[in-house]
Amino acid sequence: MGGGFCLLAVREGGAFLEFNRIEKAALFEEINRGVVSHAYIVEGAEGVGKLDFALAAARAVLCHGEQAPCGVCSSCRKCEEGAHPDLHIYRPDGASFKVETVREIRRAVQLTPGEGDRAVYIMESAHAMTPSAQNALLKVFEEPPKGTVFFLLTEKRESLLPTVRSRGRSIRLSAAEDGDVAAYLRERYPKADAAAIEEAVRMAEGSYGKAESILKKEGRAEREAALKLCELLFRPTGRYGLYTAFLGQKGKRDGTVQIIDHLTAAAKDVLVTKLGCGKSAFLHPDKAAEYSADNTAEALYCIFEALLDCARSLRRNTDGGTALTELCRRVTQGKG
Ligand SMILES: [Zn+2]
Repeated sequence: MGGGFCLLAVREGGAFLEFNRIEKAALFEEINRGVVSHAYIVEGAEGVGKLDFALAAARAVLCHGEQAPCGVCSSCRKCEEGAHPDLHIYRPDGASFKVETVREIRRAVQLTPGEGDRAVYIMESAHAMTPSAQNALLKVFEEPPKGTVFFLLTEKRESLLPTVRSRGRSIRLSAAEDGDVAAYLRERYPKADAAAIEEAVRMAEGSYGKAESILKKEGRAEREAALKLCELLFRPTGRYGLYTAFLGQKGKRDGTVQIIDHLTAAAKDVLVTKLGCGKSAFLHPDKAAEYSADNTAEALYCIFEALLDCARSLRRNTDGGTALTELCRRVTQGKG
């Protein structure tokens, strides 16, 4: 999640640009008809506005006005100030949601609602719940106290146990239009130059949070390292240089995973360019075209699959040496 990414709307040319407005309108309409589920599973890519969506939904659930969210009742105002006693937000402590955190949530659920007749619990990165944490959550999911509403936010719905998934109503947030992401960046960063905004929009593929973090140059070292490695990876004669290039990554595990993910995105760009079935995102389209001319589709498939496997092994193992050696072996053996 990009830091500070929780605006409900930004101004664009006098009108408000609101994230996920269609999905929000549909949910508000249901809530106003009195149809409120006890749990929602909000799925969408990183930075697509899941927290913003859940906060808007929470306001509607907790609102006392006629047309929720009315924006003027005491509940709506407290939500806006981030001070509603019945709105609770939890995020993973470190890499995963531990069973202790879920037990704490269960205890809190038994004590609420404090003020009104409803209480909202938002869990960010719910896919980071360990299986035992999910099982602990199930107990409260099976018999939720009246008026309790959960929002589980996740990038990967399939990481949730089927028993958890089946008890929540699914809402999928789709990627934003490039024009909306560009408008958002221009609004928030009026001093950023047009080329930097254009690049961030292209790389972010419909994610406001990702676009913002690219524009702020977060993770720039890894992106630049990946772009340099592309020069070796996608040049049939350059691949033998990868062994040496990867030596520099020894011991920098997190950075390496990030670089491999970028290379995977680049391989996808070159492949879709080669096959004429999509547009380049991580790589500049001209660069993707250049690499695609240098490789056969078979060689590109081979590179893409080797990168996917490498990313998987890196996420499993702590030692990256073996995974990177295997990657180099596979890409140099593939037919260029
Ligand atoms: Zn209200």
